[in-house]
Order: sequence, then structure tokens, then C-alpha cells
Amino acid sequence: MATLQEVLQQTVREGELYEKLERGFVRCYACGHCCRIPDGQLGVCKVRYNEGGKLLVPWGYVASAQCDPIEKKPFYHAYPGALAYSFGMLGCDLHCGYCQNWVTSQALRDPSAVSPPLRVTPEELVREAVQHGAKVVVSTYNEPLITSEWAVAVFKEARAAGLATGYVSNGNGTPQVLEYLRPWVDLYKVDLKSFEDRHYRQLGGRMQPILETIRRLHEMGYWVEIVTLVVPGFNDSDDELKRLAEFLASVSPDIPWHVTAFHKDYKMTEPENTSARTLLRAARIGKAAGLRFVYAGNMPGRTGELENTYCPNCHELLVERVGFHVVDYRLTSTGSCPGCGTAIPGRWAADFQGQIADVPYLPGFRRFDRMRAVRR
Ligand code: SF4
Repeated sequence: MATLQEVLQQTVREGELYEKLERGFVRCYACGHCCRIPDGQLGVCKVRYNEGGKLLVPWGYVASAQCDPIEKKPFYHAYPGALAYSFGMLGCDLHCGYCQNWVTSQALRDPSAVSPPLRVTPEELVREAVQHGAKVVVSTYNEPLITSEWAVAVFKEARAAGLATGYVSNGNGTPQVLEYLRPWVDLYKVDLKSFEDRHYRQLGGRMQPILETIRRLHEMGYWVEIVTLVVPGFNDSDDELKRLAEFLASVSPDIPWHVTAFHKDYKMTEPENTSARTLLRAARIGKAAGLRFVYAGNMPGRTGELENTYCPNCHELLVERVGFHVVDYRLTSTGSCPGCGTAIPGRWAADFQGQIADVPYLPGFRRFDRMRAVRR
């Protein structure tokens, strides 16, 4: 039986985000590493590789697919209550010790991460999404930037079916990949993990490409929301949170910032779980920096009003939530406050049609072929 790497190399095609260099090298532009790859070698992500002077990239499978409430992504200013049909491939360009999707993201690095791929076509995925009543299709679970050609193929089908599309990403992008995605991606969530370059280097990246990506995403008209997983002792100092929030406010005070609670996971089992008090402190810092929409996540019912959306002008309650559950929705059909008429930034449906699911569930597509591999 083949190794996982060998199995995945049976389901590839030539990439679009690269250039050919001299002596058979290629330069990949799918993520901020911009790997220069010699013939016969893999990029840092271990899923894109140079074969005979061509860059081959993942194609034709998913490692997981799930029906999620859009609040889980989290997007709070995009179609509240919608079902987000979410899929992911394998691999990541970073290696965060606290990754909550490590079974898919670290499958090529860590033999204990087992998530066998399922063969599938873009048409089949979108058909499933429509059957389940999804309004949005989202590439997530692994780092979507490194599998952008496949995501775009799925999103072209999704658009044809009238669905919106989104990325849940670490934001380690390049100008080339953002231009490539712009026609096909509506919503973009960036996980801004820290405001210290040395922390990013511990995770396998650099901070600057991520900050440039956030600025560029906003300028290019993607709908952007930012998440920071607040990890005690790693990124929770007042100073770091303040600099991070001030950076976001300098891009736009209308960018929603979600501060979410860490729980012990994967290789990071030392820090204590994040307390509600720490999230409240982070949220205060975000508001003091000028951000108009700050949310606390992963602690349903324990962070007061920080799960709800309020009008920044008259403070009227606009969307009330507990966890992923939308309790009340009061925006007008044009996405404005019903009290004072202030336009609320985001992507809003003309009317709220209820919530299909407020907990994730698996679509029943086990009919797809599972590709068998051994670990080596
Ligand atoms: S996606 Fe990133 S890590 Fe992977 S080959 Fe391309 S530049 Fe390198």
C-alpha cells in the first residue's frame, strides 16, 4: 500500500500560481513562503512539488467536509444564520503547536494525524452544499491558500449555483494569490495569531506577509473578519493586544475582531485555558483602539454582550447570539440599523430566513471513495 504522500501525488494537476525559473526550478506564489523549488522537491507545505520543471498541486479530493453554522467560521457580519458548507484538503504552510485542525493541517508532517482523503469533484461538493441548504461554501480545515487552484474550481461551481464563497486562512498570502482569488472569493477570515514576528517564526512563518495580506484584502474589497486565539503567556499581554488592535483599526475600524479562547490542544498543553476575564480584557483593548465590532468566542454565554452585534451609532441590538445560535436578528433588508438607519458593514441577506443548524454536522457523503494509505 502507498504512503499518504504517494496517494496524494496521484491526485494532482499543474498549478497556476507559479513561474518557471532557470535550471528547472519553479517559484510558487500560493503563500508568503514563495518557495523556490528544485526539480524533484516539495515546497514547505509538502503538498506542492516540482516534477520535471512543472509545479504540481493538490486536486480532486477533500480530507473533510462538514456543514457548519457560519458563526463557527466565524463570520458574524456575513449572512447570519446561514449554513456554510465547509471543506478542506491536507497540509499547511505553518506548524502551530496549538492547531485545532491538526488532523488535516499536519497530516504530511505528523504520523499521528490521520485523515484519509476522499475523491470528489467540484460538482459533487456543490451539489451536496445545495442539498443541505447552504448559502456559503468555505475552504477551511487545512490552509486554503496552499490549495487555491482546487478551491477556485469548487468556487466556480458554487457561484454558478448562486452560493457565496469564503476562505478561513492564516493570511500568509501574496499579491499574486490574492489577485487570483479575488474574482471567486467573497469572504475572507484571517487568523492573526500574534503581533510579534518572533512568535510567527516559532509557528513557521513571518508576520509581515500576514499584515500586508490583511491590508490588501481590505483594499481589494474582500469582506474581512479577523480572529485572534488568545493564548495565555503567548500573545495575551496588554501591549501586544494593543498593538495588534491598533494595526487592525488603522486598516479599518469596521473590521470585526474576534478574540477567542484557547483550550489545550495538539502539542500545546502547557498554558492554562483562556479565561473569560482575559477575553473581556482583550475586547476592552480592541474597543479602546477604535475597533467598532469586537466579539468574544469559544465561551458561549460567559462573555456578556460580546457575542452580539450592536449599532455603533445608537447601540441598538442588531443580532443577538449565544454561541453559534442566532437568537434574534433585527437588521433592515438593506443591512442597516432599524433604529437610526446607520449602514452596518458586512454582507447581509435581504431578510433573515432562520437558521438551518446551530451546531456542526456531517453531510452524508460517505459514498465518495476513500483513498487508502499507510503511514511511513
Ligand atoms: S504553497 Fe507556500 S509552502 Fe507550499 S510550495 Fe507554495 S510557497 Fe511553498
